Amino acid sequence: MNVAVVLYTSDLRVHDHPPLRAALSSCDRVVPLFVRDRAVDAAGFAAPNRLAFLADCLAGLHDALRERGGRLVLRSGDTVAEVCALVRECDADEVHMAAGVSGYAHAREEGLRTALEAEGRRLYVHGAVVTAVDPGAVLPAGSDHFAVFTPYFRRWTELPPRAVAAAPRTVRVPDGIGSDPLPRRRSVTGVSPGLAPGGEREARELLRRWLRAGLSRYEDSHDDLAGDATSRLSPHLHFGTLSPAEAVHRARAAGGPGAEAFVRQICWRDFHHQVLAARPETAVRDYRDRGDRWRTGAAAEEETEAWKEGRTGYPVVDAAMRQLRHEGWMHNRGRLLTASFLTKTLYVDWRTGARHFLDLLVDGDLANNQLNWQWVAGTGTDTRPNRVLNPVRQGLRHDPAGRYVHRWVPELAGLDAPQVHEPWRLPAAERARYAYPDRIVELADGLDRFRRGRGAG
Ligand code: FAD
Repeated sequence: MNVAVVLYTSDLRVHDHPPLRAALSSCDRVVPLFVRDRAVDAAGFAAPNRLAFLADCLAGLHDALRERGGRLVLRSGDTVAEVCALVRECDADEVHMAAGVSGYAHAREEGLRTALEAEGRRLYVHGAVVTAVDPGAVLPAGSDHFAVFTPYFRRWTELPPRAVAAAPRTVRVPDGIGSDPLPRRRSVTGVSPGLAPGGEREARELLRRWLRAGLSRYEDSHDDLAGDATSRLSPHLHFGTLSPAEAVHRARAAGGPGAEAFVRQICWRDFHHQVLAARPETAVRDYRDRGDRWRTGAAAEEETEAWKEGRTGYPVVDAAMRQLRHEGWMHNRGRLLTASFLTKTLYVDWRTGARHFLDLLVDGDLANNQLNWQWVAGTGTDTRPNRVLNPVRQGLRHDPAGRYVHRWVPELAGLDAPQVHEPWRLPAAERARYAYPDRIVELADGLDRFRRGRGAG
């Protein structure tokens, strides 16, 4: 009997899973393993929304493996130590896992490779599992990554997509392998009340419904804040309960202009992953240092608190920040305009905002979160680093009837659009009827701070 271990990380599925397929084709017994690693928790992963969603995903994976005659083995501790212990326990010859892109993931792969080889065992790291296309597969001449999206997208689109692997019928796990109990969603505290459920079954059902009923409207409606017309697949792509390669294949098979617009967004995801893979330090450092002198001190801290709590006095900003807190998720347009508000209007360091998002976002990940924050802050890959989103214009344009504001800022539910986006313009007596905060800053003052701080003139 030969045995392989499949180490699950951000790829919690059985469909289209190259490491699982490869392990099953070379060994007759496979141990699917997930390690709750303290270092990952300590690095900021362990936010309640993600822990709750993870519990759903692990339960779903366990069930999917059981339906195939197997099960999931859960261990807790240092990943390298736990994998090595398990490999010895079941005398496995090989370990399969998906390639990651963060500095931590690179170090983990290196640590595992060295430790396993010292014992005469092999590590196989599979690309294009966490992303649709492997970061190393699309490179410009003379550089280790693309710094601009459009040429990356062109090359990414030309690449023949990898074939989607079917889910295995049978997974046979050796007898006698112990497992920690799986975590339960309901034992996680501090979870957002509107958090979506996790798990591969949920992901596949969401994708099916999206392709049937959402995709065709995507191109026209993806920025409509109240319409909520995006896929909401991001948590599933983040935890890997949905394969990005499969999502691309199936969207293209569904066809239409919505399909290409949607595939382009998945490419944005790959784009940020290839930047982080080449520049892991950009999780915390400016990709392009613009010499920012970010505001600090008591006033900046107070304004940041108001931003976090959704009481800046700008209704569309507050609506989006409250959606984040309530659902652990925020509409992309909301992410853009709230991030712009923090970094360009309050002129507060993008790292402060990125940290707050990571504390709450169920889809929060280093590649997409940090690099989108940098994109908005102008320290990243945006070719127009000084653009500023005006929250009033954003509200009027992307929430013209004010329904998004009404949903999340009930204090203003009685106020129609367009006034709902500028309540400060109401006559004082009328304004007093709404228990809604005054603006924490005027836009012109905000713009001034940004220009002076950045020296953008
Ligand atoms: P859809 O519009 O249906 O798009 C389909 C998929 O494409 C998404 O699920 C996502 O995986 C990918 N995608 C879409 N837009 C982007 C983008 N701009 N960059 C990268 N991938 C994209 N996305 C995350 O997954 N995790 C994050 O932590 C995250 N933080 C963000 C922070 C800021 C400041 C900004 C501006 C954007 C951030 N995004 C992040 C990107 C984007 O907002 C979300 O992916 C998207 O809103 C998820 O909703 P959806 O699944 O309905 O997206």
